[in-house]
Parts: sequence; C-alpha cells; structure tokens
Amino acid sequence: MTSPSTRPVRTRYAPSPTGPQHIGGIHTALFAWLYARRHGGQFILRIEDTDQKRSVPGSVDLILQALDWLGMDIDEGPREGGEFGPYVQSERLALYQTWAAELVERGRAYKCFATPEELAEMRKLGAGYDRRYRDFPADRVSELEAQGLPFVIRFKMPLGGVTIGDDMIRGPVEFDNEQLQDAVLLKSDGYPTYHLAHIVDDHHMRISHVIRAIEWLPSFPLHIQIWRALGWNMPQYAHLPVLLNPNGKGKLSKRKQQFAEADGKNVPVLMHEFIDAGYLPGAVMNFLTNIGWNYGDDVEIFSTAQAIKRFDLKNVSLANSAYPIAKLDWLNSQYIQRAPADELCRLLKPILEAAGYAVDEKRLRQVIPLLRVRLKSTRDVAPMAGFFFADWASFEAPSADILIQRKMNRDSTADVLRGAMPVLQELESFSHDAQHSAVAAYAKTIGYKNGQVFGSLRAAVTGQKVSPPTFETMEILGKKESLRRVKLALQSISDSET
Ligand code: GLU
Repeated sequence: MTSPSTRPVRTRYAPSPTGPQHIGGIHTALFAWLYARRHGGQFILRIEDTDQKRSVPGSVDLILQALDWLGMDIDEGPREGGEFGPYVQSERLALYQTWAAELVERGRAYKCFATPEELAEMRKLGAGYDRRYRDFPADRVSELEAQGLPFVIRFKMPLGGVTIGDDMIRGPVEFDNEQLQDAVLLKSDGYPTYHLAHIVDDHHMRISHVIRAIEWLPSFPLHIQIWRALGWNMPQYAHLPVLLNPNGKGKLSKRKQQFAEADGKNVPVLMHEFIDAGYLPGAVMNFLTNIGWNYGDDVEIFSTAQAIKRFDLKNVSLANSAYPIAKLDWLNSQYIQRAPADELCRLLKPILEAAGYAVDEKRLRQVIPLLRVRLKSTRDVAPMAGFFFADWASFEAPSADILIQRKMNRDSTADVLRGAMPVLQELESFSHDAQHSAVAAYAKTIGYKNGQVFGSLRAAVTGQKVSPPTFETMEILGKKESLRRVKLALQSISDSET
C-alpha cells in the first residue's frame, strides 16, 4: 500500500443533487479543485444521489453549469466519464450492497429489524438507537429475514475507547467512541447512506484527499472505523470551515435573504444568481478563494493561476468566515477594469442582445474603453450604453427635464446648446480632446461651469442622465449625428414651452 502522502493526488466534489447549487458547496468544490491543480492531480465530480427523496431533477446540470462558468475543469465525472465510473451513486448500488454484506460477514455490521414505531419510541427516550439487534442470535436473524421483514444494516461502532483522526487543517482530533451510534450503512430499500457510500466510492475511485465541509467532522470517527473495518488505506481528510451569514451569525442560509450588512440588499447565495447578476467569473473565483484562505502579502486581487501556485490546505482558516459579500462588488469592478477587450466583448454582447439591441462588434469595441471604469456589473451595460446600438435614425430627443442641468432652466439650456453648435461644427478633428478644449473655452466665455455645459450636451446626445462621458460619446457618434441630436434637443425644449 502506498502511504497517503505519496499517492497521486485525486480530490473530488461530491454534491447531493438537491436543487440549485449553493455557494457553500461551490466553495468546497473550489478548495478541492485548487488542491488537485496545485499538485498536478485529478479532480473528480461524483453525484451523491442516494437520498432519492431529496433528489431534484435538473440539479446536475446546475452543478455542471456552475463549475464550467467558474472554469473549474473536471477530469472525471458523469459527463466526462473516466475509468472509475459510473460517477453517480444510484448507478453503483450493487457495489455498496456487496460491501455492506461483507461487513456483516466479518462481524463488523449487523442487520437491524427495528420498526419505525420502535425507533420513534427510542427517540422519545432521547438516547438514540439502543443497539437491540447488535448481538441478536444468528438463527433469529435468519428467521426474521425468512419472514420477509425489512431490515437495515448498521455498523458496529466500538463501544469504548477513543478514535483519533488526522485532519489536514486542524491536526489530530480525538473522539470518544461512546458518543457514537451504530450508524445505518444500508437502508431497507437497498440504498446506502452517505457513511458507507462515500467510503466505498472514495476507495474505488482512488481518492487521495477528502476535502469536505466541517459539518462532517462529528462523523469522522465513524468513518475512520468503517475504513478500518473494510481494511482499506484511508485518504487524508480535511474539514473546511463554513460560510456564515454576512453578520457572522449562523450558517449562510440556503435561501436568498436581505442583510443589513449588505445595505439591505438581497445577497446572492445560489450560483445562478451570481451568473445572472453580471459578475465576472474571475471576480467570483477570486472572491471565493479569499474566503477561509488568503493569498498572503495583503494581496486581494489575484488570478486563479496565481492562487493555484500558492494554495495549501495548511493555511485554511479554522474559524468559520462571515460572508464578505460587500467585497464582491468592488472586486467585480476591478475585474471589469482589467478584463481583456475580447472577454468583455464576449460577455457584454449577449446582454445587449437580450435587451433588444443589434450589436455591431466593431462599435462595441469602440464603446468598451468608455465602460470599463463605469460598470459595476455587466448588467449595467444595457441602461448605460444601449443607446449606441439602437437605430440612430430613430433617436428621440429627451424631454426638457432630462436636458436641464442643475441651476439652469429652459432658456439657459437652449442658449448653451445653441451656442455650442457652431463651436463643435467648426472643429476639424472631432476627437474628444479637441471637443473638450473647445467646449471648455466656450463655457468660460459664456460664464457657465463646465459641468453645466458638458451635462447639457451629454443629455442631448444620449437622452440619458447617466452615460459614458460626453465627448468620448460624441466622438463615437460622430460630428454629424451629434449635431443632429443637439438640434433635436433644442426642438424638444421649444416644444415643451408651448
Ligand atoms: N454528499 C455530501 C454532501 O453533499 C458530500 C460530502 C463529502 O464531500 O464527502 O455533503
């Protein structure tokens, strides 16, 4: 047998397909993936659907969508295949049944015929299952079985002593065996429980490191005992801290909630909410990697490739982390500022198209430099810059209330716009710099602030209160179209007077 530390690294993400993918699960997946990539190992996706009542159709697609979107590539899984498949537990039932029977054979597990009523009685007494079938005579077991009574298979947990485990994050952990129950390994419908199934699979799939949420730590001694009873070489285990609600209280809820700490906003917790909200995958990866682990050197922005080079389970925090959602908006705007034009083009085009614009890619590339520093989310692109992609010929001048700037009125707005027209008309180069100097000089002569004059023009040519900067916008629209729009604005002001 190879020792755990020299085995080829193979980690897995083993979600139960119970609905939309929660960010907590993805955080676990990410750490398992980073560890595999750090060590040139393999990352496996395994679907743990042995609780048939909780399985929700379509969940696997959402899991794959989340991993794909974040760029966590999978080496083996239900879609990819692989030599240790199938990678869906409900397709491996015979294997669990064989090993459960083997444990019974070895005297390490037993058939238990306790009825639901009996179990309810025991629960009422508060001490859990009383092990009444643990030492039941073999001939009586055969009798009950012959009568066709349903049974489960339970593990014979040692009744005393301690189990010591080694956790990669917290070091040695010790448990009193007395505290543990004789857990069910195989249910009466022939489906295994998580306890048995994950061990059988991690063994057969040659998993070297089980990286999972801390909620499994209390069952760790049970799992260690099952590994021993099966006589298999145990992988190393790491129990990750969980994400807490943004206020640091309680585990991050499954449902979307409003939190005061996040300005009363709905906090995204499901992966598709991150996708829909217009976050960049790189920003979300950076955000998640930084929860419970940090890059070091006070560096907050790093690429996945950089994280892979440094990632180590030993530096994962022991404490659970409050969900630092406020960081995500900041990170996202940083990522938008730095994203290559190609990537932004690819991300923004479908959003504009979905908003009903016909997107000319050449124009989008002209507009992207104007948007970089202004977009908090890719979703902002349509309200901010959709007008570039609308049919210019059918541009409608905005109403007077959009055109009129602070401390101005109809007349002064009309004067300013009218006076600006020849200034722009005379320009030889219509570059934004040339426009800027000419219009700033013009503002000075007429005694208005730059903001008032630039703002009037901006509203005139975009029809919006919020948009990219005036002169960059006009440069893209061109002189003729810009002046046509200013003229339409003048018309709109005079129409509003009548
Ligand atoms: N199916 C288990 C869960 O979703 C997997 C835990 C593990 O990674 O072993 O919690």
